[in-house]
Amino acid sequence: MIKVQEYRPQSFTDFTKEENVKAYQEALTKVRKELVGKHYPLIIDGKEVDTAEKLTSINPCDTAEVVGTTAKATIQDAENALQGAWKAFESWKKWDMDARARILLKAAAILKRRRLEACALMSIEVGKNYAEADVEVAEAIDFLEYYARSAMKYAGFGSSETTWFEGEENGLMSIPLGVGVSISPWNFPCAIFIGMAAAPIVAGNCVIVKPAEDAGLIAGFMVDIMREAGLPAGVLQFLPGVGKEVGEYLVNHAKTRFITFTGSRAVGLHINEVAAKVQPGQKWIKRVVMELGGKDGLIVDETADLDNAITAAVQGAFGFNGQKCSAMSRLIVVDSVYDEVVNGFVERAKALKMGTGEENANVTAVVNEMSFNKIKSYLELAPQEGKVLLGGEAPGEANGKQGYYIQPTIVGDVQRDSRLAQEEIFGPVVAVLRAKDWQDALDIANSTEYGLTGGVCSNSRERLEQARAEFEVGNLYFNRKITGAIVGVQPFGGYNMSGTDSKAGGPDYLANFMQLKTVTERW
Ligand code: NAP
Ligand code: MG
Repeated sequence: MIKVQEYRPQSFTDFTKEENVKAYQEALTKVRKELVGKHYPLIIDGKEVDTAEKLTSINPCDTAEVVGTTAKATIQDAENALQGAWKAFESWKKWDMDARARILLKAAAILKRRRLEACALMSIEVGKNYAEADVEVAEAIDFLEYYARSAMKYAGFGSSETTWFEGEENGLMSIPLGVGVSISPWNFPCAIFIGMAAAPIVAGNCVIVKPAEDAGLIAGFMVDIMREAGLPAGVLQFLPGVGKEVGEYLVNHAKTRFITFTGSRAVGLHINEVAAKVQPGQKWIKRVVMELGGKDGLIVDETADLDNAITAAVQGAFGFNGQKCSAMSRLIVVDSVYDEVVNGFVERAKALKMGTGEENANVTAVVNEMSFNKIKSYLELAPQEGKVLLGGEAPGEANGKQGYYIQPTIVGDVQRDSRLAQEEIFGPVVAVLRAKDWQDALDIANSTEYGLTGGVCSNSRERLEQARAEFEVGNLYFNRKITGAIVGVQPFGGYNMSGTDSKAGGPDYLANFMQLKTVTERW
C-alpha cells in the first residue's frame, strides 16, 4: 500500500494577481531559451532513436515560428516498439502495484515543480492562454495522483468481493492486459496524453504512445518526466509519427492487445472497425476504449438566472476557442427569454480579446491550417443556416501576427437538423437554437448522435430532475459551464457517438486496462 494523503485535486492559479502573471511570463522566457527549438527523438526500449524525417511543430498564433521538432516514426520503429514493449511487460507485470503507483506519484511531484514550464510550452505550441494551460497541467498532475491511488484497490488476490462458499477459497484478481497503444489528440496534449498512458501503465501494461502531430513537444516533455520518475525501459514507448501510418499499423497489428483512443468520431470509428478484424496469429479480441467528439448543448429556460446562464455560455463556448470536446457549441434557449439571453451572450462575447497564448488573450488561434479551413467552411455556411450575430470572419492575423485566427462567432436561429446544429466544428462557433418551451429544448438537446457534455440553466426542480434522467450525455451540468471536468470530482466521458463511456478520472477507469481472473481452491 502507498502511504499518502487522500486524493485532492490541484488548485488553479489566480491570474488576477500580478505576481502570478509575472511568474508565467518568466516561465515563457525560460521555455523560449530551453525548450523552443528542441528536438525530441523516439524513445524505444529506453533508448533515444532518431529518424531521417522529422515532424515540425508550429506556433498556431504565429505561424512563422517553428516551436521544435520530433522524430517521425517509421513502420519499422513501430514494430520495434511493439516487440520491445512485450519484452518489458514480462517484468513490469510482476511489479507490485504500489511500486508502480510510486512512479506516478514521483512524476506528479516533478510536474508540480515544472508546472509553469509545461504551461508556457503549451502557450507557444498550441496557443493556450494562461488559465487554459494552468487548468490543463493541474489536470495532468491530478491524473497521476488519482490513478496512483485508485490502483490500490486492484492490488493482490481477492481485491473485489466474492461470496464465501463452504470448503473453498474463491477470489478475483485483476491482471494487466499486455501491450497497448495510446493515441491522443492535440487539444489536451499534456493531461489527456499522460492520463491515457499512466492509467494502463500503473495497472501493469506497457504502452506505445502516439501523440498528435501538432503537439509533439509537450508530449516529449511529459515522457522525459516519466523517465526521470524511474519508469523502466520499454514500459512507455514514445512514438511520435503520423496517425495514418504508424497509428494505423499498430491498430492493425496482431500483437496489439488494446487501443485507447481520444480524438475525432471519424478516426475513432475507423479504428474501432480496423481493430475488430482478427489478424492472422491474433490470440485475443482487442479491447478498444474510445473518447470521441461532441456537439454539446446548454439549455436556458425562463426560470434561470439569466446572467449566470450567459456567463456559463461564454465560458463554455469560447474557452480555448471552442477546441474542447466538451465545448458548448449549441445554446438552446426557450423562446420567452431568447432575445434577452442571446443579446447578453453576444454583448459579453464582443468583449473577448483576440491574440496569442503568450499575450494571454481570451481567444487565440485555432490549432492548424486544416482546422482553420474546416472552420472557415462553416463560417461560409453560417449565413445560409441562420443569422450571424457576431464574428463570422477568419482574419488569419491578430496584433500583427499571422496565425490561424477565427473570430468568436455566434449564429442565431439555427434549425435543429441543420449542419451547424449537428456537426462538430471544433472552433469558436456557436449555433443558437430557439425552443418553443422547456420540453422542446430538451428534445433539441437530445437530437444529435453525440452524447458527451450538456447543461441546463434553470431554477425548476422538476425540470432539473427530468434532465437528470433524460438528457443523454455522459457529463451533465446544472447552472454552470459545461466544460472543465475535474479528475475524481467529475469522472469524464461520453456515450452514443461520443465514446465508450470509459470515464477518465473516475473510480473504475483502470478496469478498462485490466482483465479479471477468478481462482478457486477446494480445501
Ligand atoms: P484526430 O484527428 O481524430 O486525431 C487524434 C489522434 O489520432 C492523433 O494522434 C492522430 O494522429 C491519430 N490518427 C489519425 N488517423 C489515424 C489512423 N488512421 N489510425 C490511428 N491513429 C490515427 O483528433 P484531433 O483533431 O487530434 O482531436 C480533436 C478531436 O478529439 C475532437 O473531435 C474532440 O472532440 C476529440 N476529443 C475528445 C475528447 C473526449 O474525452 N471525448 C477529449 C479531447 C478531444 P495525427 O496527429 O498524426 O493525425
Ligand atoms: Mg503547433
